[in-house]
Amino acid sequence: MGKIKYLSPEVITHIAAGEVIDRPAAVVKELIENALDAEASQITVTLEEGGVRKIIVTDNGFGMDQTDLELCFKAHTTSKLSTVTDLQSLSSLGFRGEALASIAAVSQLTIKSRPATEVIGTGLKIQYSHVQAMAPVGMASGTQVIVEDLFLNMPARRQFLKTSAAEIRAIIRLITHLALAYPATGFSVTHNGTPLLDFSNQHTFSDRVRVILGEDMATSLVPVQHSQENMNISGFISKPQQARTSSSYQYLVVNNRIVRQPGVSQIIKEAYGTLLPPRLQPVFVINIQLPSRHVDPNIHPRKEQVDIQGEATLKTVLRQLVKNVLHQQDLTYQYHSTLAHEAQLFNDAGADPALSGVLRDATDPWDVRRTQIDLHSDIAQVHKLYLIVQTNKGMLIIDQHAAHERILYEQFKATFEQMSHNDTPYLLPEPHLLTLPVADLPVLEEHRTIFTALGFDIEPFGNTTYKITAVPALFKSHDIGALVTGVLDDLRHKVGTINLEKAAHKTLAYLACRTAIKAGDTLSPLERHELIKKLNQTPGQYTCPHGRPVQVEVDLNTLHHMFKRIS
Ligand code: ADP
Ligand code: MG
Repeated sequence: MGKIKYLSPEVITHIAAGEVIDRPAAVVKELIENALDAEASQITVTLEEGGVRKIIVTDNGFGMDQTDLELCFKAHTTSKLSTVTDLQSLSSLGFRGEALASIAAVSQLTIKSRPATEVIGTGLKIQYSHVQAMAPVGMASGTQVIVEDLFLNMPARRQFLKTSAAEIRAIIRLITHLALAYPATGFSVTHNGTPLLDFSNQHTFSDRVRVILGEDMATSLVPVQHSQENMNISGFISKPQQARTSSSYQYLVVNNRIVRQPGVSQIIKEAYGTLLPPRLQPVFVINIQLPSRHVDPNIHPRKEQVDIQGEATLKTVLRQLVKNVLHQQDLTYQYHSTLAHEAQLFNDAGADPALSGVLRDATDPWDVRRTQIDLHSDIAQVHKLYLIVQTNKGMLIIDQHAAHERILYEQFKATFEQMSHNDTPYLLPEPHLLTLPVADLPVLEEHRTIFTALGFDIEPFGNTTYKITAVPALFKSHDIGALVTGVLDDLRHKVGTINLEKAAHKTLAYLACRTAIKAGDTLSPLERHELIKKLNQTPGQYTCPHGRPVQVEVDLNTLHHMFKRIS
């Protein structure tokens, strides 16, 4: 006798529910997306106990009449598409018609709705997919969905939920992301009676970014904007100084959908190159608009990822865009004095928020003047490591090793990329013989063309020995054997500490590190001057190839605060 049976629709819904609705945040996402699809301009979310006890989402969208209400929570019922062709160019956030059905399967659900054209609304109570009651209700036009006791009928699932605090964090992160995708929609959120978020429906995109990322971060964001046929990219990226240790401040929106596209985020990070240490993540809010037929959200149960037709082109454009924007910016690290901040807090206390913006206006993060070094001023060297020089805004403290490392790295890169060295290599008075441990042989072989391109002449000389006959003139006073083996060591051990795509560039970065002026080297006034002058003309002068700051500016305001000239 056959053992295989068809599952009942009820069981099917129950199984499917688990894929879509795995935690309170998933409920909130589906309900808010429904409200957005209903063109709501104001969405209110009320939560109890991390959303597990209760989630209420109220909107002022176009609502549902009684007929639609009776259908909306059944599996595969939707007003948003009817044919397979519709699936190929979706403009609504929902399309599968399974969210309400899934929520209904795992909770006590109440839906009240009233279209603007009707005078009275309808309320529906559903318990684990079964209608318990239906009645007319007086209400404002729009829809209210109440989800209670999530997963009470699925003890195993309920057990796996995180703490209430963790669920709230996930919900807040979700709502802020949605709010960035819909800046003109008002959102307000309360948890256990405490207001958590309140975003006005009068916001522009930049207002919304400011409110969500906070003034301090928002003021140091840089706008990005690019339009070409079939593609529009807009948003903000952070300067390297504002980078974070986690990617939680990275917001990507594709065709108004909030998405996680690791490939796309990775490209943005890569575009920072040596401006960021590998362990740090840039902050960004990037909004991408593509023709709807090029974006398929139907590849992920919770619609968290989309399939982008032409993703490779998008990545190329995005990488170049971010690179260009960063290239045009003054990325000098600014020292933020806690003294100045305290004075700021004092000044701001009780002040009108609009006014505090004006007060802040006077301090550094808002200073849009580019930092300009005054090369006629004296340059001090302290602790044989830091150089101090006057700028138009205050003073700059420069790490001499990091500065020289960047200068050399850019110089090596230019030489390497043009494959022609202007300097004639320096012929060693007698060849240097280098005998390597066997383990180093493949490392040297892999990178030998890079050394050659820079002007090294390194040839195999039998067994594990190599013969070096020429080196770039720049290195003539270095201990060549130690330099080459040192770089091979770096390549073997430290590859991950440099945020560069190309192996060649890594070699150049290590070479720069090993040959740069060290901490502890005394520099004559002329050498200090030369170093800073060169740094000033070097691309990426703000960080060393490892992404650490090369120069930090302390502006006059901060100095005045330190000396209590102003408070
Ligand atoms: P989908 O959004 O994929 O269509 P849902 O199960 O989320 O599926 O919703 C089913 C249907 O219920 C929607 O297509 C829509 O017609 C209606 N609906 C749900 N929520 C709302 C709302 N807040 N306002 C108006 N209509 C809604
Ligand atoms: Mg939906």
